[in-house]
Parts: sequence; structure tokens; C-alpha cells
Amino acid sequence: MNKRIELLGYPVDSVTTSEVIQKIRQAIESHHKTHIIAINANKLYQGRKDLLLANILKKAEIVIPEYAFVWASKVIGTPLVEHIGGIMLMRSLLDASFVNNFSFYFLGSKQEIIERMVANIQKTYNHVKIAGWHHGYFKDENDMVTQINASAANILLVALGVPKQEYFIHQNRNKLSVPIMMGVGGSFDVFAGLHKETPSFLRHGFEWIYRLLQDPRNLWKRYLTTNPYFVFQVLKHKYNHHSLIKHQNSDIQLQKKNLYSTPMNEG
Ligand code: UDP
Repeated sequence: MNKRIELLGYPVDSVTTSEVIQKIRQAIESHHKTHIIAINANKLYQGRKDLLLANILKKAEIVIPEYAFVWASKVIGTPLVEHIGGIMLMRSLLDASFVNNFSFYFLGSKQEIIERMVANIQKTYNHVKIAGWHHGYFKDENDMVTQINASAANILLVALGVPKQEYFIHQNRNKLSVPIMMGVGGSFDVFAGLHKETPSFLRHGFEWIYRLLQDPRNLWKRYLTTNPYFVFQVLKHKYNHHSLIKHQNSDIQLQKKNLYSTPMNEG
């Protein structure tokens, strides 16, 4: 199932949501530590200078593509099968939790936000097992790891923002006994009802506009820098990809020409 491609210098999995859920179930059963990353324009932008983040992205066991990467894959000519945003996967995991016996630990955001989120999730998904939760402004990382391990959760969702959440998972993955770990950014704010989730008809390329309108003060700078950088990278890779294919084709033509013009093929 899992077809992994390389896109804009990063590995990306061309998978459907149900394939990801199946992989998660298997990883839980076999206690295989799995870091899931939803790759997007913001992470690509931050990874250009933050080599630790770039390295973490490259080593993640599952890399799901947010819409920008799906668009990039089409432009470059290596189309990905499905767009799976971080918040979309979180929702799918909650939906699938009863059948699969998933239990969650939520780490991140402000105290009142996480309280509201936990209450909303308990109301909406009354079967869901919440093994534990904590706000994201803790002092002692080791103490946090002990609390997460004591909960015996099998899925840890971390909302500390990028790259803090990826650092937390990377630095503690050997100490953490939870098999599935994933950074989910501002998703807790959405589940708490602070921000609205992008309607599905706007998810195909306009999610950033919707997010910007809800939080312009914090996000205008991000989108002003990440979006042009992202488009530039896509065009650069498209050109390189096409010239590589052109180069390979002309090499093949040349090899064929040489083959047919050798004395052995004469007569
Ligand atoms: N946050 C946190 N601890 C910190 C810094 C941030 O819990 O030390 C939370 C913050 O309250 C917010 C989330 O991390 O809920 C960051 O959301 P953002 O939309 O910035 O995530 P990103 O877009 O970076 O994925």
C-alpha cells in the first residue's frame, strides 16, 4: 500500500486516510514507534534553515500531505493519492477510535482551551477513551513524559506549534512508551471551538485564506513569506524534474543511436 515519493526534498506518503489508520493500528499492535507528520508549506519554509526540523521531517515513519503538497505533486508530475491534513487525520482517528480501541493523550494549548476541547470531544465522541491531557506550558519535560507514560495511551497528539511539537516528540521518543505520536498544531483551538475548521469546499487550496481571516494578526506574516517561497520551490523543482526527464530521454536516444550504429548491428 504505502507508496512513498520524494517531493521538494522530503519523503511524502501517497496513502489514503484508511490506509494510514490501518498502519496506525498495526503500529500499536506491534509497539512500533511511529511519528506522523503532516507536511505543509509552513514546515517546508521553516525546514530551509532549521536543519533539526528538516531532519525530523525526513525521518518520520509516516508523512501525510496537506493540500499544498498535493498541488505541488500534480504540478511536478508525481501526483499523490489524497490530501490528508493534520486536523483531518485527528478527526478520523477520533471517529475510528471505538472500533480500533484507540486511547488518546492530548498535550498542548492553554489550560482553558484544552479543557474546552476535552469537554467537546467527550460530548461529540462519547465512546472515546481519553487517557490523559495537559496544557502546553509545562516546565519539566521529563515530568511530562512520566505523566504521558502513566496514562498508557496509545496515541499522543501534541499541539505546541511548529517546530516545538516536532522537537518534543523527537527528543522524547525513546523515553515515551506511547507508540503513535503526532504534532497537530492549532487543531486543539479548532476542537475547543476557538477557531472554525475550514469547510471542505475551501480545503482545496484556500485553507490558508480561511485561517488568515480568523487570525490575521498572527498569521499574515507567515502566509506572506511561506506562500511565495512554496510556489517558487514548486516551479524550481518542476523545471529541474522536467529537464532531468528531458536529459534522461536524450541520453536514451543517444544510447539507442550508438547501439544501432555499431558495426555489430550493421547488415
Ligand atoms: N502552544 C503551547 N505551548 C507553547 C507554545 C504554543 O501549547 O509553548 C500552543 C498554542 O497555545 C496553540 C498552538 O500551540 O494552541 C500553536 O498553534 P499554531 O496555530 O501556531 O500551530 P502551527 O500553525 O504552528 O501548527
